[in-house]
Amino acid sequence: MKKMRRRPAHVEPRTAEQIKIMREAGRLVALVHSEVQKAIKPGVTTADLDVLAEQVIRENGAIPSFKGYHGFPASICASINNELVHGIPSPKRVLKEGDIISVDTGTIYKGWQGDGAWTYPVGEISEEAQRLLAVTRDALYAGIGAVKAGKPLMQVSAAIQQYVESHGLSVVREYTGHGIGRNMHEPPEILHYVNMAHPDSYLILQSGMTFALEPMVNVGGWETRVLSDGWTVVTGDDSLSAHFEHTLLVTESGAEILTRL
Ligand code: MG
Repeated sequence: MKKMRRRPAHVEPRTAEQIKIMREAGRLVALVHSEVQKAIKPGVTTADLDVLAEQVIRENGAIPSFKGYHGFPASICASINNELVHGIPSPKRVLKEGDIISVDTGTIYKGWQGDGAWTYPVGEISEEAQRLLAVTRDALYAGIGAVKAGKPLMQVSAAIQQYVESHGLSVVREYTGHGIGRNMHEPPEILHYVNMAHPDSYLILQSGMTFALEPMVNVGGWETRVLSDGWTVVTGDDSLSAHFEHTLLVTESGAEILTRL
């Protein structure tokens, strides 16, 4: 068997000036979410939400980081019900009462990035869906609560997995959180479950590091598959899925959420 690399990724802490700019990139991500949330209702299409998101980003002097990323055609990912992530906005996708929709978006402001996702109810949703949204959101906050300078990254992964599984749901393994800075996706790779064989599990958190934590949680199993459009990721068993993400700064006392108003 091949010997596994044991060294975690090298991650540079940000300077005070860079952090100031990333706070603004993150604030714009939160602003997009607050505007998109207001627009979500039965009858609205995912293309409508994308147009709105792009408008908010550009009006505020930022660039939508998703648009053109590996050829992705839009400023948000809009993923409905059994779709986890990377759903392509379309005028044909009309929101219906009882749906859940995960909106993921990213901004580039003065060369620095913010990234954030949230799952929203469309009108009245089932009790199962309500519970899924609450557990996924709280799993993200459990992970944020475990961020501590001087501690290994796996502590964050463990907090998320433990929270999700103690509620009888599954955390997705095939998509991970990530470092973020000048690029949307930078080292380290941040698992939302414990894998002691992954070198980045041993990365020691340091004040000034910035990363995006983004658990995706399924009502059924954790397995996923990609649809024939080459983008949309759905749950393997077509169960409901939710996705919550914040961009974070590691501080002396814990974590600061950058993607907030
Ligand atoms: Mg992300």
